[in-house]
Amino acid sequence: MAFNGRHSEEDSLHEECGVFGVWNVPSAAAVTALGLHALQHRGQEATGITSFDGSRFHSHRGMGLVGDNFGDARVIEKLPGRIAIGHNRYATTGDTILRNVQPLYADFEFGGFAVAHNGNLTNAHLLHRQLVRRGCLFQSTTDSEVFIHLIAISLYSTVVDRLIDALKQVVGAYSLVALSNEALMGVRDPLGVRPLILGRIGSEGTGGWVLASESCALDIVGADFIRDVEPGEIVIINDQGVRSIKPFTRMRERFCVFEYIYFARPDSIVEGTPVYEARKRIGAELAQEAAVPADVIVPVPDSGVPAAMGYSMQSGIPFELGIIRNHYVGRTFIEPTDHIRHLGVKLKHSANKPVLDGKRVVLVDDSIVRGTTSKKIVEMVRAAGAKEVHMRISSPPTTHSCFYGIDTPQRSKLLASTHTVDEMAALIGADSLAFISIDGLYRALGQPGRDPEKPHYCDACFTGDYPIPLPDQHELADRQLSLLSAGN
Ligand code: SF4
Repeated sequence: MAFNGRHSEEDSLHEECGVFGVWNVPSAAAVTALGLHALQHRGQEATGITSFDGSRFHSHRGMGLVGDNFGDARVIEKLPGRIAIGHNRYATTGDTILRNVQPLYADFEFGGFAVAHNGNLTNAHLLHRQLVRRGCLFQSTTDSEVFIHLIAISLYSTVVDRLIDALKQVVGAYSLVALSNEALMGVRDPLGVRPLILGRIGSEGTGGWVLASESCALDIVGADFIRDVEPGEIVIINDQGVRSIKPFTRMRERFCVFEYIYFARPDSIVEGTPVYEARKRIGAELAQEAAVPADVIVPVPDSGVPAAMGYSMQSGIPFELGIIRNHYVGRTFIEPTDHIRHLGVKLKHSANKPVLDGKRVVLVDDSIVRGTTSKKIVEMVRAAGAKEVHMRISSPPTTHSCFYGIDTPQRSKLLASTHTVDEMAALIGADSLAFISIDGLYRALGQPGRDPEKPHYCDACFTGDYPIPLPDQHELADRQLSLLSAGN
């Protein structure tokens, strides 16, 4: 996230980044481009790769999709070496500037260092101010650069000790891949909010290693899943193999539950659970909790599809593709003006009239953010002749903003933070609206329910129970208060 703490203006949630890294793999940059392509859903605004050829680092960073930047063999040829890291970035428009695109790179006395970061540091603002006071010159407005400066000023001698020193000063949710002259490194924050996995590529003894945000990026490069990087773990990969360090006090893990609902790709296996299966179970649980007589179950594509299948299987009501998605509508096309934004849903989705006409329809979607998209979809389904439209949501109401690396609107803009479920149903024009309960969500993920004393996941956007402190937010609130009292 950027230091300005901008919030999304869109009616959806966005994963802010995907990371990937390889050690000892022929054409490491090409393999990294493939991995990033599989992680494209985690960020579409910009992408970058840094490779190391044994003596020099090489970088290419650009705006746009992985294919736009790395589809040209001439670009890949300029990134030689058997070691590389890469990054996909999502950012709101104002922050999408080339100098914010990762991997970030710096030359230190110990050699080069590149880092790619998924997540958000919740004390980046405070650290940024302190570092600027100490004379650090920031090149970007991304919080990831804090790592670079903390490493630069650390008094420790080895790169790993400097990295640990830096990590002990940051607060937040993060997964990192980093590259030095000596090693590829992967790190997860102490609570393991954001995902990171370790894979093996090639044959035993001669093959290499892969780090990735999700297992779908292993499949595309033919790598085998080895294990999740553990919360609070640093893995250090070099020609001797993989070394693990756990420098933090052990804490109870709080993986992001929204990865299961929406962010992760359905063919990924996250923390040992196949995402596709988890989404189907969530849909089945939703059908048990919020049954309604209907003729068809229709997913809002694409993210609502597995939950709708689960709902259909549990309820016995047929699953139908009543809404068709046009995959060839780019975000930029629907962004520029409110008018075009309004048209956006019609460009993206169209009603499959023969499936909907005269039917009682249950629409299944993953979340309601501002509610504008849901309203247009309900209108569209009614206009196609649906007799009744019932909306079912495979997450609890999103009542709080995320400060851990997911781009969300300000809390006041989240429909569920200011409206009851009945009010929301009336606003989106649905005959009924229901969300899965937080306990139902936990049950679908194999837990007995949510233990309020020891919740298994980060679920702060549904509960307001933020597991990682938010120093920047408190400082911002204090500053606003003092500005207000100065005004009085
Ligand atoms: S607040 Fe929500 S989206 Fe953010 S990490 Fe927690 S569960 Fe995930």
